[in-house]
Amino acid sequence: MLAPAWLDLFEQYGVTVGVSLDGPPGANDRHRLTHSGRSSTAATVRGIELLRSRPHLFAGLLAVVDLANDPVEVHDHLAAFEPPVIDFGLPHATHDDPPYRTDPRAPEYGYWMSRVYDTWLARPRWRHSIRMLEDIVALGSGVRGSVETLGLAPPTSVVIESDGSVEGVDTLRSVEEGASRLGLDVFRHSFDEALSHPKMLHRRYGTAALAEKCQGCPVVAVCGGGYLPHRFSADGGYRNPSVYCADLEYLIRHVQSSLRRHDWTPGAVPPESDHALEGTE
Ligand code: SF4
Repeated sequence: MLAPAWLDLFEQYGVTVGVSLDGPPGANDRHRLTHSGRSSTAATVRGIELLRSRPHLFAGLLAVVDLANDPVEVHDHLAAFEPPVIDFGLPHATHDDPPYRTDPRAPEYGYWMSRVYDTWLARPRWRHSIRMLEDIVALGSGVRGSVETLGLAPPTSVVIESDGSVEGVDTLRSVEEGASRLGLDVFRHSFDEALSHPKMLHRRYGTAALAEKCQGCPVVAVCGGGYLPHRFSADGGYRNPSVYCADLEYLIRHVQSSLRRHDWTPGAVPPESDHALEGTE
């Protein structure tokens, strides 16, 4: 439970805090219940309000896309907390354990995120960033993105566990036991060692490390083959297109055609990057 004493500690060590919230109570309670099966939403919102009392410690909100939730309602609910960033993530899934869809032939996650994009664009009063969408804009303009779920740039971040161990892509745990472990810790190893670990090199090889379909894909510079865990299958390892392939392509094309409608040709760096595209409401 977040308390003012924690904020003092974060202040002391320069730690900023991101909070997971999937939307309004009905949306958040689908998956984020306490161990006793109760709603965690009220306690989470209290924590967010506490963080907002010292906005420089508030890193933003993280939400997992759930097709059962309305994207506009989710976006507007999260935006009302005035986070600097909203980070939408696609649910953990692999080719052996594919994501839930109501229509397997439709890019439903692409539709969902496209509606978030349209809403974000249509509400210029909000100043938050939406990391996935800004990265699609940035990568399409030849600018390096900020997340490891898109693009081809080598990774620049690691995960520190509470016991001091250093891990790579921690969500690889959803793929197989131990997949995220590097065998390193903060007591004996440097972060440079972590970033040059063989398990972290998958993105150093650019398109050569991707599935054949991705290598010839017109949006590969933006998509990068998708997030590493989402490519996994027991047969092909990580050399598959993402399980969200059609969703990512749909979303990237949706964003890029919107940019063109705003006379911003993908490939040209915009004059300013702070949510510069303002639509009409
Ligand atoms: S859109 Fe599909 S084929 Fe293209 S790079 Fe992404 S995962 Fe690969």
